[in-house]
Amino acid sequence: MAKVAPRNEMPRQDAKVRAHNFNEVALGYSHEQAVAEANRCLQCKKPTCVEGCPVQVRIPEFVKALRDGDMWESVTALKDKNNLPAICGRVCPQETQCEEKCVLGKKFEPVAVGRLERYVSDWEIGQGVRTPTAAPSTGKRVAVIGAGPAGLTCAGDLAKMGHQVTMFEALHAPGGVLIYGIPEFRLPKSIVGTEVKYVQSLGVDLHLNTVVGKLQTVDELLADGYDAIFLGTGAGLPMFMNIAGENFNGVYSANEFLTRTNLMKAYLFPAYDTPIMIGKHVAVIGAGNVAMDSARCALRLGADEVHIIYRRTKAEAPARAEELENAEEEGIEFHFLTSPIEVLGTEKGWVRGIRLQKQELGEPDASGRPRPVPIAGSEYDMDVDMVIMALGTRPNPMVFTDTPDLERSKHGTVVANEETGRTKKPRIWAGGDIVTGAATVISAMGAGKRSAADMDAFLKDPGQTWWVEQ
Ligand code: FAD
Repeated sequence: MAKVAPRNEMPRQDAKVRAHNFNEVALGYSHEQAVAEANRCLQCKKPTCVEGCPVQVRIPEFVKALRDGDMWESVTALKDKNNLPAICGRVCPQETQCEEKCVLGKKFEPVAVGRLERYVSDWEIGQGVRTPTAAPSTGKRVAVIGAGPAGLTCAGDLAKMGHQVTMFEALHAPGGVLIYGIPEFRLPKSIVGTEVKYVQSLGVDLHLNTVVGKLQTVDELLADGYDAIFLGTGAGLPMFMNIAGENFNGVYSANEFLTRTNLMKAYLFPAYDTPIMIGKHVAVIGAGNVAMDSARCALRLGADEVHIIYRRTKAEAPARAEELENAEEEGIEFHFLTSPIEVLGTEKGWVRGIRLQKQELGEPDASGRPRPVPIAGSEYDMDVDMVIMALGTRPNPMVFTDTPDLERSKHGTVVANEETGRTKKPRIWAGGDIVTGAATVISAMGAGKRSAADMDAFLKDPGQTWWVEQ
C-alpha cells in the first residue's frame, strides 16, 4: 500500500474552556478538511466498511461524491439507508463498526467515516433539508411506540414505503435517549430536532405525552385498527447496586440526573430553574457513555471534583474511546479496579461519603470480560456529597400492561427474532434496547430498519406463518 496521508483531526473546544460550558465539544471539519479526509478513502471494490455498519450506509458512494464536489449526491447516498445521519456522525461508536473494518486501518489510521458523515449531514442542514416526495399510500396503518432511534428509523422507513404511520411517545419531546440522556455538548438538541422533523416530513404522525400501557394498551391499539405495531420503548429503567446507603439524599440514578439536566434543561439555568442537586465532590459509578455524560455534566454544572469509580480497568470500560479521552482531558478523575460497598450518610440523611474496595481481575465472566474480584482488607472511604449510579438499565415494563402473551426474558427484555424483529405475539415487532438491553444508537436503528422491511413484507402478505422456532 502506497504512503497515505495522516487522518485529519477534527477541531475541538479547548478542554479547560469546554469543561465550563455546554456548547458542542467537537467543532466539525471545514470543507477543505472534509475533502482531504475523503481523499484518503481507497474506494475498495468490496467495501468492508459497509459490512461494519448496522444500517449499511453506502459509505464509499457518499465519500466519493463529497470528494468530487457533488454534495447533494453525497447527501442522497448517505440518507438512502440512514434517516438520522447528523446524529450518527456525532455519537456512533465508529471505531468498533465501519472504521474498524476500513481496509486502510490495517496499516494506517482508518478513514474518519463518522466525521465525514457529520460534515455531509451538517452541510445539508445548512442548505435546508430537502423533503422527499411521498410514496403512494398502501392503506395500511402502523403504530410505532417510542420515538427513540429504533422507533424513528422504523417509522421513517415504513412511511417511505407508503404505510400510514402513527408514532406514540411518552415524553413531551421526541428523540428518546438522544434528547433526554445525551448532553448538548455531544449532541445538540437542534440536530435531534431537525432529524425528527425530517422523519415527520416523510408522513409520520407523532403523538407526544402518550404513555402506551397507561392511556391505551397494545391490544387496544390492535383493536383500534392498526395492522401492525413496532415496540421501540428502549431500556429506560435504571438499576442500582443494592448496597447500604443508596437511599440517602444525594444519590441519583444517571437517568434522573441526565433527564433533569438535558430534557428538563437544568443546563440552561437561570432561564430554566429545574430543581437539581449539584455536589461539590461527586462520585459517578460506572464507566460507560452514561457515566461519562453524567460526570461531564456534573463538572459543567459546578462540581469542584468528579470521580469515576469503575470495578474493571480502562481497557474494559464500555464508553467510546473518544469520550473517555474527552473526560480525562476535562479533569474527571478515574479510579479503576475500585467498587463501592456502601454509601455513607449524615444523621440528617444526606450523602457524606462512599466506602470503596479495591478489585483485581479474575477469570472471564458470562460477558467475556474478566470478573472483578474484591481484595480483602483494601476498603477505604472517599468524601463525596453526591453519588450518581450509572450501572445500566432495563426496559420499563409499562408498555407490557395486559399483554401476558408478549414473551420476555428474565432480564425483562422482549424476545424477538433478530433478523425480522417479530415477537411471539402476532402483528407485534420490537427492536432496539427493549430487545437487546442498553446498546447503541446505530444497533437500535438497524433493528428498526430490519423490522420495517419485515413489517412491509408481512403487510403485503398477511397470510404467512408468523413464528418459526430458530
Ligand atoms: P430509547 O432511545 O430509549 O427510546 C425509547 C423511547 O420510547 C423514549 O423516548 C421513551 O420515552 C419512549 N417510551 C418508553 N416507554 C414508552 C411507553 N410506554 N409509551 C410510549 N413511549 C414510551 N449509544 C451510542 O451509540 N453512542 C453514544 O454515545 C451513546 N451515549 C449514550 C448516553 C446515554 C446517557 C445513554 C442513556 C445512552 C447512550 N447510548 C449511546 C445508547 C443509546 O442511546 C441507546 O442504545 C439508544 O438510544 C436506544 O434506542 P431505542 O430507540 O431502543 O430507545
